[in-house]
Amino acid sequence: MTAPHNYFASTYGEARQKFLATAEDAGAVVTNNIHPLKGPTGEELALDVAAFGPLDAERVFVTMSATHGGEGFIGSAAQVGWMDEDRYRDLPDNTSVILMHAVNPHGFAWLRRVTEGNVDLNRNFLDYAEPTPQNPEYDKLHGAICPDDWTDSALAEADSILESYVEEHGQKALNRVVMGGQFSRPDGLFYGGTAPTWSRTTILATLDAHTSDADHVALIDFHTGLGPSGHGECYIVGDEGEPGVEKANEIWGTDGVTVLAASGSRSAHDGYNLTGIGRELAPTPFYGNTLEFGSHPLDVVYRALRADNWLHLHGDLNSEAARSIKANLKEAFSPDSAEWRETVYTRSMDVWYRGMAGLAGL
Ligand SMILES: [Zn+2]
Repeated sequence: MTAPHNYFASTYGEARQKFLATAEDAGAVVTNNIHPLKGPTGEELALDVAAFGPLDAERVFVTMSATHGGEGFIGSAAQVGWMDEDRYRDLPDNTSVILMHAVNPHGFAWLRRVTEGNVDLNRNFLDYAEPTPQNPEYDKLHGAICPDDWTDSALAEADSILESYVEEHGQKALNRVVMGGQFSRPDGLFYGGTAPTWSRTTILATLDAHTSDADHVALIDFHTGLGPSGHGECYIVGDEGEPGVEKANEIWGTDGVTVLAASGSRSAHDGYNLTGIGRELAPTPFYGNTLEFGSHPLDVVYRALRADNWLHLHGDLNSEAARSIKANLKEAFSPDSAEWRETVYTRSMDVWYRGMAGLAGL
């Protein structure tokens, strides 16, 4: 068996090459959805799909990497490792497994959390015929979250505004304001966009094509950047009464599983990718799991994301500053540590195995 850290690529291009080569060796049915834009070295971008098992399976298990672009290294490594270790050979009866590699290939290649157009794919699954949610607190703090200048003095001024907000309202309140998503500032963080992105459309078309006979669909969406370093928490988000919430522990277990059930009224989570996928697949029961691995402390991750936002709006992508910002971002997305990689890979395989057994046992 290959050591898990070898499944990790150092660029999107390398991740894609590993995924396609391993999928071919494994005999997967592969589909390439080519993105209209190119990567930073002119490379082709694609959402590649590797499918295992019967086309008309009643149980469908899906994994997605790179919803948040540059967070894609662990999800890609898990998908490559799962194939390389021949885990597709003993699928339960009547089950198919669909690996969606680099669902946001543009962000993965450019080492950005967002898609082309600065959209947070995990806030982009709204019904845009309805009015978009408001986040007035974000609007007030936007100038401090995304300062026009990235100098020591400009940052000190911006940070003092955010620190005052934390003193008055608490850190959790600031996290909610920033991470809750916003639809008013296309140049800001966690911006959900005004229309479905290429990634959203391609994800939903792929799932529709592979679930036509499904009676249960489970999915792991890999993320990094939240939580203690190396820890992998499963977040199950939905409304009370939905199958994904009701059967969360039956499918994913209770260890490291957090169920965040909402009250049923319209809320920020309407734009989450797994919420949108659940709506698309309905009435087929859907069990989505956002698997989030901690990398570095939240303030370090925030700082890296703010710097990247400034770089793409105001900076020079070919500068020394850009290289430093991208290096910090890569470290925030996927720490350069064999121990971290081994830990998160092992946890990924455990959650994957547990989820497939849970799906089979329904
Ligand atoms: Zn993420």
